[in-house]
Amino acid sequence: MGPLACALLTARPHVALSPLRAQWTAMPQPRLIERINHLQVGENSLAFYGLGQVGVAIRGPGGVIYIDPYLTDSDGGGGHLERLFPPPVPPGEVTNADLVLVTHEHVDHFDPDTLCPLAQASPQARFAGPYTCDPRRAGIDASRWRHARAGEPFADLGATVTPVPSAHTELEGAGRGHAFLGYVIEWNGVTVYHAGDTVVWDGLTETLSRWRIDVAFLPINGRDYFRTRQGIVGNMNIREAAELAQALDVGLVVPTHYDLFAGNGADPGQFVSYLYRLNPDRPQKMLRVGEMLFFRREG
Ligand SMILES: [Zn+2]
Repeated sequence: MGPLACALLTARPHVALSPLRAQWTAMPQPRLIERINHLQVGENSLAFYGLGQVGVAIRGPGGVIYIDPYLTDSDGGGGHLERLFPPPVPPGEVTNADLVLVTHEHVDHFDPDTLCPLAQASPQARFAGPYTCDPRRAGIDASRWRHARAGEPFADLGATVTPVPSAHTELEGAGRGHAFLGYVIEWNGVTVYHAGDTVVWDGLTETLSRWRIDVAFLPINGRDYFRTRQGIVGNMNIREAAELAQALDVGLVVPTHYDLFAGNGADPGQFVSYLYRLNPDRPQKMLRVGEMLFFRREG
């Protein structure tokens, strides 16, 4: 697919914003890509930049890994979703992606309207995602796309990336490498777990306990009868995320999946409060959109 086809995919009049947050568009946006590019990380260190929802850019030695960038208001079917804040960078300006990890096919994780211009702006980028994500929908050549399968690690950028099953809210497609994935990334002496979308399934703690996880990105929006009835597929809730962080003894936990959509959020303050009651010494970070978290593993 050439540039014209990609432009057609992304031709949109504007990003639909909630009136409450529309003033955010007037705020000067620091140049996120330049900030990422200008940062150097030393040994045993990584830098994380929040993209909203579960999206994160990770700066390591010699490159940048993106996970689930959702940088439009696309609903995946030609319509729009109302965002509570604008994307921190337009996808066509993401020129520094070296590896893009996709956790599953839902549009806030696998967004063809994000990935198509991103793939053109970052011709060096490689992509990985589960079998449910068809790279042709994003105009990405199959040679740049890896079919990620749970339990089959691969090496890229000097990192070891191990896909692990996620249950959103069931474990599906086990024979094909699992439909929903999280990723464990061992890079520059730091071990990261990004859950994508998942509940705490029987066996998740055991699966992850082979790693000493330094930084864990866990969804907190939960699930309930009324959202499920609206077709909103749920995740672990605040209590479950805090207790999983405890069970895994993670070095630092970052809550995700609470900020982008008004009807499917959660209060990250409640997460912090609950985690504090479980263990006041457990570090956490509420990573805001465009904010940088610098992590150095000590000892
Ligand atoms: Zn999601």
